[in-house]
Amino acid sequence: MGTALLLASNHCPVWLSWQPCEEPLFSNLDLFLFTLIAGLIIYWFMSRKKAEPIPEFKQAPSTRETSFIEKMKKTGRNIVVFYGSQTGTGEEFANRLSKDAQRYGMKGMAADPEEYDMCELSRLAEIDNSLAIFCMATYGEGDPTDNAQDFYDWLQESDGELNGVNYTVFALGNKTYEHYNAMGVYVDKRLEELGAKRVFDLGMGDDDGNLEEDFVTWREQFWPAMCEHFGVEASGEDSSIRQYELKEHNDINMNKVYTGEFGCLKSFETQKPPFDAKNPFLAPVIVNRKLNKAGNRHLMHLEVDITGSKIRYESGDHVAVYPTNDTAIVNKLGQILGVDLDTVISLNNLDEESNKKHPFPCPTTYRTALTHYLDIIHPPRTNVLYELAQYATDPKDQENMRKMASSAPEGKALYQSFVLEDNRNILAILEDLPSLRPPIDHLCELMPRLQARYYSIASSSKVHPNSIHICAVLVEYTTKTGRLTKGVATTWLKNKLVADNGHKSTVPMYIRKSQFRLPFKASNPVIMVGPGTGIAPFMGFIQERGWLKEQGKEVGETVLYFGCRHKNEDYLYQEDLEEAEKTGVITKLNVAFSRDQEQKVYVQHLLRTNKEDLWRQIHTDNAHIYICGDARNMARDVQTAFYEIAEELGGMTRTQATDYIKKLMTKGRYSQDVWS
Ligand code: NAP
Repeated sequence: MGTALLLASNHCPVWLSWQPCEEPLFSNLDLFLFTLIAGLIIYWFMSRKKAEPIPEFKQAPSTRETSFIEKMKKTGRNIVVFYGSQTGTGEEFANRLSKDAQRYGMKGMAADPEEYDMCELSRLAEIDNSLAIFCMATYGEGDPTDNAQDFYDWLQESDGELNGVNYTVFALGNKTYEHYNAMGVYVDKRLEELGAKRVFDLGMGDDDGNLEEDFVTWREQFWPAMCEHFGVEASGEDSSIRQYELKEHNDINMNKVYTGEFGCLKSFETQKPPFDAKNPFLAPVIVNRKLNKAGNRHLMHLEVDITGSKIRYESGDHVAVYPTNDTAIVNKLGQILGVDLDTVISLNNLDEESNKKHPFPCPTTYRTALTHYLDIIHPPRTNVLYELAQYATDPKDQENMRKMASSAPEGKALYQSFVLEDNRNILAILEDLPSLRPPIDHLCELMPRLQARYYSIASSSKVHPNSIHICAVLVEYTTKTGRLTKGVATTWLKNKLVADNGHKSTVPMYIRKSQFRLPFKASNPVIMVGPGTGIAPFMGFIQERGWLKEQGKEVGETVLYFGCRHKNEDYLYQEDLEEAEKTGVITKLNVAFSRDQEQKVYVQHLLRTNKEDLWRQIHTDNAHIYICGDARNMARDVQTAFYEIAEELGGMTRTQATDYIKKLMTKGRYSQDVWS
């Protein structure tokens, strides 16, 4: 092989020199044969390369079915439950509805719209008594979730006929956000416009209130209505239905066991770009310092190194990190359930046709599943309690757990107080209900997946192309039952020391693009409002404006409104901010110290004080306004302050002022990066 290639390449100069010659060294036939042989050799070489065995860590090529219609027909299903889900709740609800179908004598499947050809929706009418349910979460500023983006685009562009398609929508969102349930509302309206038939009213789930309760109430009315609509009898079957079966691996090669990675086995050992949600980059932590000078909170600044990862980001983007659960809690769960956490297991889907073979990467150990893959900290949802109730030996416990899953007022109240208000996670429930000892594999099947956490990036890639900065506050509180509860991700981040026993600490991460962007024209003024950790994206913006200035660009006014409790305690990045003001990168630094005097002073108070300047910047100079931080109170109060300024200085009524700010939002001149 090597010789043949060498021969071919040795001949190349001869061919080149041949062209101008009168007496060619080779005839045309020779040349043709040479070319043919060389071509065949190259082809053989290339195809041989392709046929090389797939390294073990790679997954087998996907044999996924992209036609949900064919799949439904093949497996005798009549209900498909699509989900638009960012943090897993939409997916959880879809799974619950699809499981429910069986209880009502129908057959359902949960489906990720990203995995299927959604143009096929019009064919749903080919299946008798069919129904499409959509569990649609709204993300950010009224946006679709990542996995529903293509479906949303298709809905917008489609003029397809959906006649004969039965549907219903359950929307998931949070009332503290401006665009409450925008996606669910849109899908519900748009499907009707396209000719589909709404067979049950849109459900509205509010995570600021009680999303679980909203869902349970909607669902309890929905199924009887469906039974009536399709003329089927509810089977009355309400026993637990397992979706996965347990397989214990007693003598497995440990190289084939997942140890916390996602997607590809060993992907944390052999890191290959591109990095994304399914293939996060293990970024070494290069800085982890406490930001606050005093007080009993822990506010922190972290920097992670992305050198060599090919990861690109822009100021305003979010970094997603995958945390792990507290080892002590995992160990306690193992103890209380009396299991060897290092048992290697797989949970295999009983439905062989399902695209989802396992609830989390398998084979793995219980320890890895409880540490890396499962959310064991959030209070469990009612369906988990319902399914686990069968394992409670005390009939009272059993009754209460089932009651909590019902929509009866007494059950709802019990769930609200025992689980939500007392903030009991699964360990606390097991501790407080000693008769409840479920098999760990069923518990693992029911627990939701541990989700990535998003942080607004606190750096500019222009200044820090090889690192990403994070600003966060440790979440820690004592519940009503006296248990100290720590935020999963912030506790984990706090413990990510730069060097841990000589090893570099790493953080599995990827970037999520956002719409939170500096104005295209650097000469536009920017007004940034970010109290507390809401300062994060503005550290990136300030760095970027400074960099633009250094490049000789004309940079408009850069005004910051920051707020904290005490000047000497939690004035985050004080030195950097004061330096930026001194060098003129920040043209006006406004800081509200809320607790340094008797009366609270907040950022919105300073906005009102500077109303004339603000109105000129907004109304005359085309300023872009940015708000970051708490959604529930701060962002609302700040928006009200802007309404008032528009009313007073623009001579507007409240309605006109509201419209004015709405228009700024539409134009991308009033952007929010808020959380609740
Ligand atoms: P913080 O230190 O609690 O608050 C920053 C400043 O904002 C304080 O001076 C505070 O004053 C003030 N403030 C309180 N209510 C306000 C209002 N309605 N309008 C304007 N200013 C107000 O900030 P933080 O610790 O960074 O947390 C901010 C919020 O975001 C918290 O609700 C926190 O739970 C949340 N958060 C969420 C995430 C997440 O990822 N979900 C991450 C970080 C923070 P007083 O305290 O004196 O009233």
